Amino acid sequence: MRIAISAVQGAFIEHQQMLSSLGVECFELRQRADLHRSFDGLILPGGESTVQGKLLRELGMFDELQQLLRQGLPVLGTCAGLILLAQHISNDEQRYFATMPLTVRRNAYGRQLGSFSVTARCGSLEAVPMRFIRAPYIESAEAGVEILAEVGGKIVAARYQRQLGLAFHPELTGDSRLHQLFLSLVRGDSRTKEAVLA
Ligand code: GLN
Repeated sequence: MRIAISAVQGAFIEHQQMLSSLGVECFELRQRADLHRSFDGLILPGGESTVQGKLLRELGMFDELQQLLRQGLPVLGTCAGLILLAQHISNDEQRYFATMPLTVRRNAYGRQLGSFSVTARCGSLEAVPMRFIRAPYIESAEAGVEILAEVGGKIVAARYQRQLGLAFHPELTGDSRLHQLFLSLVRGDSRTKEAVLA
């Protein structure tokens, strides 16, 4: 198994460290040529969704990644990565990959509460540490989306098919269970990028 991590901007190194600690091979997607390597899953890290969206387009990677996602490539999107996956952004005209049928609100916690940590249940996982940094939350989700976690009455984690979207940063905690959940989604789909494209 090999995981590609978008490394155009944001907190990608921490995802690499997390995967390495789990003994999973990964590599950085920095330029179009990197898409020629085969991979079984994708991580879209936190950072700034506007910058990441712009860079992915400018570097000529956006369309191919969107096609792969539409064809079922497993993906973990954290924070800005979740925004890139959302079909709708309620307080922004932009949309990016738009492969998860849900609506997010960017910077949804305002300035006072820009950054905070909580511990909450996520799916079947108890007491998951969650670090929020100028985070979005999920305002609504369409049928077929599994709600995995709510904090303060707001949805902060959801799964749609093999796409896992988290409003927070699991890679900044010592808890690797959400990465393991993502890897189990990847393993459940043995199709490689080539097979997906075939
Ligand atoms: N506020 C950022 C955005 O709108 C997301 C922040 C993050 O990824 N930690 O893209």
